[in-house]
Amino acid sequence: MATRVVVATGNPGKLAELEDLLDGLGLDLVAQGALGIGDADETGTSYVENALIKARHAARASGLPALADDSGLAVAALGGAPGLHTARYAGPGASAADNIGKLLAALDGVPDRQRGACFHACLVLVRAADDPLPIIAQGRWNGRILQAPRGRGGFGYDPVFLDEESGLAAAELDERTKNRISHRGRAVAALREALAQGWP
Ligand code: IMP
Repeated sequence: MATRVVVATGNPGKLAELEDLLDGLGLDLVAQGALGIGDADETGTSYVENALIKARHAARASGLPALADDSGLAVAALGGAPGLHTARYAGPGASAADNIGKLLAALDGVPDRQRGACFHACLVLVRAADDPLPIIAQGRWNGRILQAPRGRGGFGYDPVFLDEESGLAAAELDERTKNRISHRGRAVAALREALAQGWP
């Protein structure tokens, strides 16, 4: 029988993406919003801490196992910013276009070779709110911040994130390719590997 797992996100797009990526593992995913559970305060100082806070919050409120993710972008020339503040880089409620605008302005005049950047993703799965052995899976994606947006796919910072290997912006990659090489795709692969060893 499938194990019911609450996903600590209010974003239906993220739920659909995780359902696709975790297909075949016998997990029946339900969004916390569908259970009337609100967002946790992300008070951690790392992606791991924030994902753990979100997972424990959803498990506590639902009484179910819970899966949470946290992700962000680190730009070397900006000392690792926007980092944990990636979603609200241009301020509370900032749109993707606002965030991209602020990022390109912050990197104005910085040459290509100094525009290295990295996406990070962390997934945390807990069996219960007080689980002493959470499964933690992380992934990273190295690239570079473009001088101007390119492509129409993806979301967030995808139009300005260059995948150095393909020479394409993340927003120019098809979904399948992005899911294979992205920080989240790699974190999910690590999670699948951990789950394959059993989840007692
Ligand atoms: P969160 O994990 O939902 O808090 O998202 C963190 C921030 O990172 C958001 O602003 C996202 O737009 C951005 N982000 C995370 N993953 C990606 C990605 O794959 N492409 C573009 N932006 C991303």
